[in-house]
Amino acid sequence: MDGDLNWLEARRSSPEMLARARQILEAVRDGAEVTAAVRGHPLADGRLLGKHVLVRAYLQLTGEGDWPADPELLRRIRMKPVRTLSGVTTVTVLTEPAGCPGDCLFCPTVEHMPKSYLPDEPGARRAVQNGFDPYAQTASRLEALRAIGHPTDKVELLILGGTWSAYPAVYQEWFVRRCLEALNGSASHSLAEAQQANAGAGHRNVGLVVETRPDWVTPEEVRRLRNLGVTKVQIGVQCLDDRILALNRRGHTVAETRAAMRLLRAAGFKIVAHWMPNLLGATLDSDRQDFARLWDDADLRPDEIKIYPCQLLPGTGLEQAWRRGEYQPYTTAELVALLADVKPGIPRYCRVNRVVRDIPSQHVLEGNRRTSLRLDVQAELRRRGRACACIRCREVRARPVAAGELAFDDLVYEAGGALEHFLSYSDAADGLAGYLRLSLPSAGSPETGLDDLQGAALVREVHVYGESLVLGAESKGAAQHAGLGRRLMAEAEARAAAQGSRRVAVIAALGTRRYYQRLGYRLGGTYMIKDLPVGSPGEGGHSPDRGLA
Ligand code: SF4
Ligand SMILES: [Zn+2]
Repeated sequence: MDGDLNWLEARRSSPEMLARARQILEAVRDGAEVTAAVRGHPLADGRLLGKHVLVRAYLQLTGEGDWPADPELLRRIRMKPVRTLSGVTTVTVLTEPAGCPGDCLFCPTVEHMPKSYLPDEPGARRAVQNGFDPYAQTASRLEALRAIGHPTDKVELLILGGTWSAYPAVYQEWFVRRCLEALNGSASHSLAEAQQANAGAGHRNVGLVVETRPDWVTPEEVRRLRNLGVTKVQIGVQCLDDRILALNRRGHTVAETRAAMRLLRAAGFKIVAHWMPNLLGATLDSDRQDFARLWDDADLRPDEIKIYPCQLLPGTGLEQAWRRGEYQPYTTAELVALLADVKPGIPRYCRVNRVVRDIPSQHVLEGNRRTSLRLDVQAELRRRGRACACIRCREVRARPVAAGELAFDDLVYEAGGALEHFLSYSDAADGLAGYLRLSLPSAGSPETGLDDLQGAALVREVHVYGESLVLGAESKGAAQHAGLGRRLMAEAEARAAAQGSRRVAVIAALGTRRYYQRLGYRLGGTYMIKDLPVGSPGEGGHSPDRGLA
């Protein structure tokens, strides 16, 4: 535990508050319900203690060795458990405002903000407060999370702010290095040093995500992203109709989107597609067909999707089109119906991260203003007797799972020239406890020029649910401790060997390298590599030696 921070927090709470918090914690430890225990121990002036004070008291008591660590107690007194339920805490940071090469009709431009961001969007506000400094943004977010009792040992860094690839290379390196230094709690002389230090840091980086445009994804860019340690790319697909893309001045074609996704997949990245219904020129009908193309087209098939219905914002070209009577936003009811139409068609290997953007409603000129659209869509699906079977809708979250009762599944599909195996374990109620994405490239997969990947099967993602546990802590039944990751890796290696792959390459984030080392992997250029025994490949005819003449 961080002694300095405990001292600082203790100073903010009066001795009376801490004494009362201790009584409440004792009651909760003895089985009392948290809210009831808080009500039963008011302060002298009648006020009730906030949960953050309980967490502070807990950290102080355990940090000073008065009490043994009790993760179960900590879990019960935490304020917003949902944020870390998929095992990882996300820290979002924004790059500083710089011109985006795009000129999209719907995109807002606000002075002193990165293109497409409004200063009062929740994530953006924090960036502004910290002057877009990567170190300050990361450090302040970590402290805020820790102060409310969230484990921050496993951190996914999400770098937002327009088109990452358009920033100068030196800025990108500096930005990532400073974020890592904040995680490491120490300065470094170079990006490589910061990356190395993170493998054993208290806040380990378990994912690095950037967002970019299809026309910026080239083999050189892919190699640069790997050197930075990027593991996941969010890509602005928006629409799969060249006429609509042109009308909205997107500046790229569908062919470029397909090429970009093929290349990202061949390099093992996890791919998050941004899709935008209600663009200028689209109709409810064309949007339904457009969405189906995401899955029908074997070059697309993203791993995750963010649905950002186009919003009519002031100062945009779209506003002018609307004033001329050429554009009409969908109503909330139309949007809910559209999303309820398309969601059941989402394959089980995809995760729907969002169905609406968090734009404060006062900016929206006309059309949907609700940010709780996901709930409306769920209600509509229930009314229709339909369901969404995407990853997010099936995750077990913190529900305890008994490893012995899990069923294994291998969902095979083609995508971007590769044969994808979505390996998963689910419980009897179809709750997803963990999954792995194995990509077996074919002769038709694009060449990345990455030495690590010659003849390799790729593990693009391993995800096991359960709470984001404090290092060394145990949580009864949480999926992360059922050895699921290890079992999934063994299944993947067996399939790779059977298909004739010479090696397995994992796009491992810095902070997960040691995990793979324990499974027999070594660090190649930027991937974790394990050579497979040379032997008789099984049936299947898969040729992993693409590009090796
Ligand atoms: S590429 Fe993205 S940030 Fe740039 S103008 Fe288009 S929507 Fe806005
Ligand atoms: Zn879903």
